[in-house]
Amino acid sequence: MSALDPPPLPSRFLERCLAILGPAGIVLEPQSIEPYVTDFWRQYRGRAAAVLRPASTEQVAAVVREAARAGVPLVPQSGNTGLVRGGIPDESGRQVVLSLERMTRIREVDPRGEHLVCEAGCVLETVQSKATEIGRLFPLSLGAQGSCRIGGNLGTNAGGVNVLRYGMMRDLVLGLEVVLADGRVWDGLKTLRKDNTGYDLKQLFIGSEGTLGVITAAALKLFPAPKDRQTVWLGIDGPAVALDVFELFREKAGEVISSFELLTGFGVEAACTHLPGVRRPLPEPHPWHLLVELAWSFEDGLSEKLDSVLDRALEMGLVRDGTRAESEAQRANMWRIREGQSEATRHMGFIVRSDVTVPIGKIPELVERMAAWVASSVPGVTLIPFGHVGDGNLHFNFVTPPDRVDELKSVLLERLYDEVAALGGSISAEHGIGRMKCRSLWRRRPALDRELMARIKAALDPQGILNPGVILGEGEERA
Ligand code: FAD
Ligand code: ZN
Repeated sequence: MSALDPPPLPSRFLERCLAILGPAGIVLEPQSIEPYVTDFWRQYRGRAAAVLRPASTEQVAAVVREAARAGVPLVPQSGNTGLVRGGIPDESGRQVVLSLERMTRIREVDPRGEHLVCEAGCVLETVQSKATEIGRLFPLSLGAQGSCRIGGNLGTNAGGVNVLRYGMMRDLVLGLEVVLADGRVWDGLKTLRKDNTGYDLKQLFIGSEGTLGVITAAALKLFPAPKDRQTVWLGIDGPAVALDVFELFREKAGEVISSFELLTGFGVEAACTHLPGVRRPLPEPHPWHLLVELAWSFEDGLSEKLDSVLDRALEMGLVRDGTRAESEAQRANMWRIREGQSEATRHMGFIVRSDVTVPIGKIPELVERMAAWVASSVPGVTLIPFGHVGDGNLHFNFVTPPDRVDELKSVLLERLYDEVAALGGSISAEHGIGRMKCRSLWRRRPALDRELMARIKAALDPQGILNPGVILGEGEERA
């Protein structure tokens, strides 16, 4: 063994896992382990001693029991699209990835009860399709929906483009099944809409990023399927106007607004130039753009309602130009521009990502302050803010020269987080803390917050075998 090799796993741990999982349930070859230790954008890489791939709740429970007995740290992973290094192991080589990807059964679908029970390894898009098949909607929707899985959506309390109307993942859950750190199975898989029987235990696990338990199945809420949908693209002057338009839409169309997304002209032009087949929805470039979607369950009539809102927006001089999707292809093109913001600018440098939220009225100030600071203090870096303005949540992508990432990454993020804190915001709206943001988080959160979280962690995982280093860790910044 060289000095660089990680210490081997405790004797017989892998043998016992092999006996539980069979050969299909265990990955040991470095090449095959690679996809489980590298993040979606290939910006970060950890090391794993092995990958375990259980196919049932019983198998998850059995391997967690073995890990607890042997003191082996486990990293729960579902689709591995997380953006904060929470689902890939650290660099020690001692951690073992526990992948839920083989647990893909949909256990129950109930249109009348409007719920669906599925396992943690179900791909989000599969769950959405299942709901559509029975004339319902599962509203969680995000760029990674073809790859991310329900376990990870729960682990991160995912957000996405429909939060404005339907809430975050934690609002979409009726019950959970969780394997605890000692290998016992907690059966909280209820499908009740109302249940006030003490602490709401399921909520503890949602958003805990794999540090408190391994979620194996969930009962998810379904909603009436929208039958009439309108998707609008507007060219506007800037974030302050975006809020005026938002207020107008809230006043006139309130509960039928599903999405309200903001984009920069720069990001839109980049998408139209670099993403194959994508076209700018409006003939001319504009400084900023809004993508707004409305939907309801009536068969029709929404278009006329939308006309009156748009007429009013024009009368008020809020929009420079606008268009609506007349076909599914046009709608897909609009959403491709929105979802492709990172992809379209990747070639320009290393993208330092962020995911912040402020009270919605503070969005223009935050954008202005950051744009001014970047222009004056970090030449060579391009700032691209975009995202869920209707939720007060923007992703600020800093496109950074690759050779300056080590020098600039924490400078850029800490400056953003300071501005966000000064405006009463949060450093993570939807992606979570993972291994990446621990330091930034604990620098800003009161000691009592940390103490309470550490006590919950100690109560549920006293040995610290579930995702050590995530949320309560010291943080790693290296790319
Ligand atoms: P993973 O990456 O596998 O894991 C994420 C975290 O959950 C890790 O901490 C992991 O340990 C934990 N975890 C995984 N499975 C379990 C389990 N079974 N039990 C307990 N803990 C578990 N996120 C948003 O919120 N909104 C967006 O709009 C959005 N857009 C994105 C767009 C792109 C292109 C990409 C690449 C990512 C985007 N994300 C977004 C981030 C990511 O897709 C979400 O965080 C998603 O919920 C992660 O799901 P996953 O299955 O990939 O989880
Ligand atoms: Zn987002």
